Amino acid sequence: MQFVVVGNPIHHSLSPLLHNYAFRLLGINAFYGRYCLSQEKDFRFLETLGLKGANITIPFKEIAFRSCDETFGIAKKIEAVNTIIFCKGKIFGYNTDAMGFYQCIESFKFKNALILGAGGSSKALACILQEKNIDTTILNRSSERLKSFSGFEAYTFDSFKPKKTYDIVINATPSGLIENSLPMQRGQLIEILKDAQLAFDLIYGRETPFLALAKSLQIPIQDGKNMLINQAILAFEIFMESQGIVFDKNLLSNAMRTSWLI
Ligand code: NDP
Repeated sequence: MQFVVVGNPIHHSLSPLLHNYAFRLLGINAFYGRYCLSQEKDFRFLETLGLKGANITIPFKEIAFRSCDETFGIAKKIEAVNTIIFCKGKIFGYNTDAMGFYQCIESFKFKNALILGAGGSSKALACILQEKNIDTTILNRSSERLKSFSGFEAYTFDSFKPKKTYDIVINATPSGLIENSLPMQRGQLIEILKDAQLAFDLIYGRETPFLALAKSLQIPIQDGKNMLINQAILAFEIFMESQGIVFDKNLLSNAMRTSWLI
């Protein structure tokens, strides 16, 4: 059985590490690789390569959604999928990013949230937060992508005047991924962060300027590592259930969480 993560760029993806380590520990005869796609394509071609399923990452989550014959759960609302399975010429799509994120913050019982960024992951987070009755505001540096957030309070950085405090502030922009920049102007960000209970950055593997600023204001921080692991666990479950493979879910969770340490 083979699976892949499809994206561009893809060399940095840790998904093969997580899934292959879990296959090994659970004694499942399967392999998970990377596939760099140079341009948009109907994802049906992956089944002809003998694959049973795939994870989809930047920038193909929306096009993958449009390739699906059927989508399930919150993927319909987000209109983006990060997990697909192939079944007799059909593609079934899911979005595990949203729940993967929510599982990280579920225990906090937040009442409201502010998301910086209006891309695919921001949409996934906004939909799950709304579904969980957490009042959510979106901020973005430009206005175009805010159009897809109907039903939310959504502002550009320039037009935003904070009227309330936010329990959680989330950086869902790639700012800080490579270069050492904040997603928005420092003074404005301090104003937003100063009463927050948690600053969450989707970026993982480094302390971003966003998290460093929150830390300097004594605000608890969390990076995107657990979100990555949670979405991978949920995707793994979908892959295995589609193949009728029964496995120990506690062992899977332990495998994915410790794979990070090898
Ligand atoms: P998108 O490209 O879809 O969206 C990026 C958004 O960030 C856009 O709204 C864009 O604004 C804004 N943006 C881009 N650069 C900057 C900048 N320098 N300063 C301020 N705003 C900026 O990306 P995704 O939503 O898919 O991903 C966002 C981040 O989340 C990435 O770093 C990704 O790696 C991470 N991620 C982590 C996951 C995890 O499991 N931990 C899962 C998914 C994503 P504009 O509209 O003006 O272009």
